[in-house]
Amino acid sequence: MNTMRAVRVVGYHQPLEMTEIDVPEATGPFDVVVRIGGAGVCRTDLHILEGQWAEKSGVTLPYTIGHENAGWVAAVGPAVTNVVEGDKVIVHPLVTCGLCRACRSGDDVHCENSAFPGIDTDGGYADYLKTSARSVVKIDDSLEPSDVAALADAGLTAYHSCAKAARRLTPRDRCVVIGAGGLGHIGIQVLKALTPAEIVVVDRNADAVKLALAVGADHGVVAEGNQVDQVLDLTDGQGAEVVVDFVGEGGSTGEGVRMLRRHGDYHVVGYGENIDIPTIDIISAEINVVGNLVGSYNDLADLMALAARGAVTLHTQKYALDDFATAVDDLDHGRVRGRAILVP
Ligand SMILES: [Zn+2]
Ligand SMILES: [Zn+2]
Repeated sequence: MNTMRAVRVVGYHQPLEMTEIDVPEATGPFDVVVRIGGAGVCRTDLHILEGQWAEKSGVTLPYTIGHENAGWVAAVGPAVTNVVEGDKVIVHPLVTCGLCRACRSGDDVHCENSAFPGIDTDGGYADYLKTSARSVVKIDDSLEPSDVAALADAGLTAYHSCAKAARRLTPRDRCVVIGAGGLGHIGIQVLKALTPAEIVVVDRNADAVKLALAVGADHGVVAEGNQVDQVLDLTDGQGAEVVVDFVGEGGSTGEGVRMLRRHGDYHVVGYGENIDIPTIDIISAEINVVGNLVGSYNDLADLMALAARGAVTLHTQKYALDDFATAVDDLDHGRVRGRAILVP
């Protein structure tokens, strides 16, 4: 039996540990083993170590962390026909059944029998990861796994929400993006590619606003207290047809709703605080509050098409797999620009 390196959660409120474990094998008919080319280090990983997911995931420790993965197909089960050894792939974060009602309508995220490598089963801070044929998206030759790995979750979440938001947007509309950090930065690029609407970005950080303008936002608002008024000024006093909120805390939900036009859509992506809207405001203005969770396989395939033509790019900071502790620490202390990626 071959062994490999794997970075594992051994206990909550304890540092991750590098150990040698067996390389996963493609034992099931639809199993796909991926040699990891890049594994994104995500804020969710910090929350896992804090124990926030312990009850929700029910995972048995120790297990291998890492849910933003891309690499090369290393082995396939006997029934796999969509990929072969050597194919360059990005991995949809869920392993789904393909048989339930949600899966049959292409809604992978709400699969009734899914596993979530890196959350409730072994993930990708390792040399190899086991997933399924349903979860691998072949990527363009021009893309490198270590450059796109973080698009598997962070990018997918941004894509899903912005593609959904974009469906109603016309050239006369305005879309406000609250938060131009990791996800918002990708969301703006997605909106730019998918909609003719004007894009207004709101962020507390002037540099983030500057970067957002550079990747396609039409107007930037540095949030210094009067951001709602600034958005109203930019929208003829009416508010925007759509607000996509990548923050979801620190008062952004109340502000986001006040930035909406009548019959507007308020999309929640970032989370933390409660939304407090008088019901009379919901009915009298007929506004919609819309939740967003990760994205489907097709969302990921669409996002990879945008990435292949250079319409969505992501700044990454790369670390050797052995330097996982530095990467996690850098993320925890705000020292990562863009996304941190572990490269085995
Ligand atoms: Zn993530
Ligand atoms: Zn399913």
